[in-house]
Amino acid sequence: MSTLAGRTAIVTGGGSGIGAALTRALVREGAHVLCADLDLAAAESVAAGVSGPGTATPRQVDVTSAQDLVDAVDAVVAEHGRLDLMFNNAGITFLGNTEDLTLEQWNAIIDVNVRGVVHGVHAAYPRMIAQGGGHVVNTASMGGLMAAGLMTSYVTTKHAVVGLSLALRTEAAAHGVGVTVVCPAAVDTPILDKGEIGRFKGRDFYLEGQGVKHPVDPDVLARRVLAAVADDEAYVVEPRQARIAWRVGRLSPTF
Ligand code: NAD
Repeated sequence: MSTLAGRTAIVTGGGSGIGAALTRALVREGAHVLCADLDLAAAESVAAGVSGPGTATPRQVDVTSAQDLVDAVDAVVAEHGRLDLMFNNAGITFLGNTEDLTLEQWNAIIDVNVRGVVHGVHAAYPRMIAQGGGHVVNTASMGGLMAAGLMTSYVTTKHAVVGLSLALRTEAAAHGVGVTVVCPAAVDTPILDKGEIGRFKGRDFYLEGQGVKHPVDPDVLARRVLAAVADDEAYVVEPRQARIAWRVGRLSPTF
């Protein structure tokens, strides 16, 4: 996709962190963004704070609802005539020993992280084929490319997102649709502060586990993602990730 000016986009999880940064970056480039989040107030606050030639419209969307995604795509197409970019970005995580995860937690993370992406693809991809092009961007994680102990459910879902994205990419090119999967290491967003394990708060767990001092700035990541869309890259993997060996098992549950 050569230019983002005048393009239309949906960003799920747009009310916080990476989704908020993507929304800001897209608006700066002149795109019209539906900033979709379960937390409407958060989406409204992000939309109110953007600056640039584009626009951001907040909308309450629960990605676990297939209908919410269909309605969101319909709303963008009704207003702008097409949907160019679908960012399936909303996600949650659980930290902890696998034996302590409840079935409700397993189902909740699969619902948001896997079904949420499936719903976005299901709603947007046929439209993109019909209109002759578009780009799907799915936010996975470094945890979608390798194992990370004490976050088995998250790793399960993010491997699914990587698999879905790469499989879709092999079909989508024939329709002029690009697919990119984003696989960040720790990014400086509120998700890092959710959960704790033993003596580690979430943020310390992730940074320690990845052997880095600082998380990535979400605005830097967002610019990198948009460059990857422009070049139709399959993956966004930070350069430093190649140097990170996630020390599986190093953070023992009993430390
Ligand atoms: P975040 O917690 O800051 O933002 C996630 C957003 O998703 C929130 O605004 C939340 O309200 C929204 N959300 C949650 N459930 C939803 C639902 N059912 N429907 C709609 N919206 C929902 O987290 P983030 O770091 O910005 O995470 C964005 C994505 O990046 C996630 O998929 C996450 O797994 C992935 N990721 C994050 C990191 C990191 O270190 N921050 C690293 C790798 C991957």
